[in-house]
Amino acid sequence: MKINVGQVSADGLAFEDKIDPASLDLDTGLVEFLEPIRAKAEVYKITNALSVNLKLSSRIGFTCGRCLEDFKEDYRKDIQLNYSLDSSQQYLDLDQDIRAEIILEYPFNPLCKADCKGLCPGCGKNLNQEKCSCNLKGV
Ligand SMILES: [Zn+2]
Ligand SMILES: [Zn+2]
Repeated sequence: MKINVGQVSADGLAFEDKIDPASLDLDTGLVEFLEPIRAKAEVYKITNALSVNLKLSSRIGFTCGRCLEDFKEDYRKDIQLNYSLDSSQQYLDLDQDIRAEIILEYPFNPLCKADCKGLCPGCGKNLNQEKCSCNLKGV
């Protein structure tokens, strides 16, 4: 996502964009963006500084770290970024900063629910859905 610095007037600039998650290299084994990331941007210029407010939304898919079930959630995040500009600068590329902000809050071990029972280490059954007869204690 790029901002044309010259287009930012004294009143600021508002626009919308879509970011391809693949272009940000966001997918991990357990977390995946299922839709393009919609970004609503408001940009303000104060002398030679640029302030960018971003509202991101998308849909994200997780794989539960315990039971390996897939689940989906709406994704929403507000970001504020600040840049200082030098006078020769035409474009500002936000991708790396957006990526950093998103990755910062990635769950390392996403769970479908806080008390997910996970898979039985004995028979591999999903213990949220059925009981098994392994009767493993203290695992
Ligand atoms: Zn789970
Ligand atoms: Zn079992």
